[in-house]
Amino acid sequence: MPGIGCHGWACRQRAIGGVSEGGALVVYPRASPWQELWHDVYCRTVLVEMISVTHTEKAVEQVGQSSILRRMALVGMVSSGSNAKELKTMAQASSIEWTESTWNPVTGCTKISPGCAHCYAQRMAKRLKAMGQTRYRNEFKVTLQADALETPLRWKRPRMIFVNSMSDLFHEDVPTEYIIECFSVMEKAAQHTFQVLTKRPERAAAMGDNLPWPKNVWMGTSVENADFTSRVHSLVETRSAIRFLSIEPLLGPIPRLPLRGIHWVIVGGESGPAARPMESKWVFQIRDRCVRRNVPFFFKQWGGVNKKKAGRLLDGQTWNGMPNISCELPEGDNSGRQSSNRVAG
Ligand code: SF4
Repeated sequence: MPGIGCHGWACRQRAIGGVSEGGALVVYPRASPWQELWHDVYCRTVLVEMISVTHTEKAVEQVGQSSILRRMALVGMVSSGSNAKELKTMAQASSIEWTESTWNPVTGCTKISPGCAHCYAQRMAKRLKAMGQTRYRNEFKVTLQADALETPLRWKRPRMIFVNSMSDLFHEDVPTEYIIECFSVMEKAAQHTFQVLTKRPERAAAMGDNLPWPKNVWMGTSVENADFTSRVHSLVETRSAIRFLSIEPLLGPIPRLPLRGIHWVIVGGESGPAARPMESKWVFQIRDRCVRRNVPFFFKQWGGVNKKKAGRLLDGQTWNGMPNISCELPEGDNSGRQSSNRVAG
């Protein structure tokens, strides 16, 4: 059973747990309480990332439930006395601010533009392969995860689901029939809302009538600078009920960002040790354009080396706009949509 390495200086090279072939999460006993605390503080990110990325339900149904909960309670991640149900919910939860859960019927991808340079999914795939996760045996090579296809049908509580946080559904190596199967699952799982984000919207547009385009599927594309606004035009050609833009990482000004037929815009800066800078004037330019066109605007983060410290206030406010899905409008028309840019202090 491969272990999860610990990066804390006090317990370097020791493992806090492992993942069995069957996907069970097992936590090893620690030698002393203070050492346990070091493990908890330094390893909790790895632990949560591992649970949320693999979202193996077995992980929370088998060995180690009480041990994991004790550790999480110790560092304030859950309240003491939390039960396995809460842990299971966390296993399916996403840390991405604008969604609730992730579903990965495909893993792996290839870089296509500057926004991909520090791809989080690629880093995670490398780490998960090293941990012995069988889903990531091919690391970042495009791999169909057919056994995960029907997972959303088993989730009864309605939720917002980000499709393929570890891949791009419209990558050229994903067979057309498989994309159709994914859409068929999303259509059947009508209790959920699915957010499909791609850097390859031209393929989504070309598939046209081959896809059912149910109302619970939101289609989005990433745009990192003015060189890639053509993706917006491809996105608008799709028959998706809600179309959104993820402008993250924002790497340059986009003064003429096309917004016709767009129902939601998310902006964020890059985070991590090699984060590329995002200028505030680029953000204001997009925010003002969205406000003028009545398009809901969500500001995710400033990013940088310490993204928590940089926060997500813009003009002293948070911007949590979400699409208004209650009004039915003709194709490509968002003029009558009430902006739901919810502003909180
Ligand atoms: S398209 Fe997305 S998943 Fe694929 S390499 Fe680029 S950033 Fe990573």
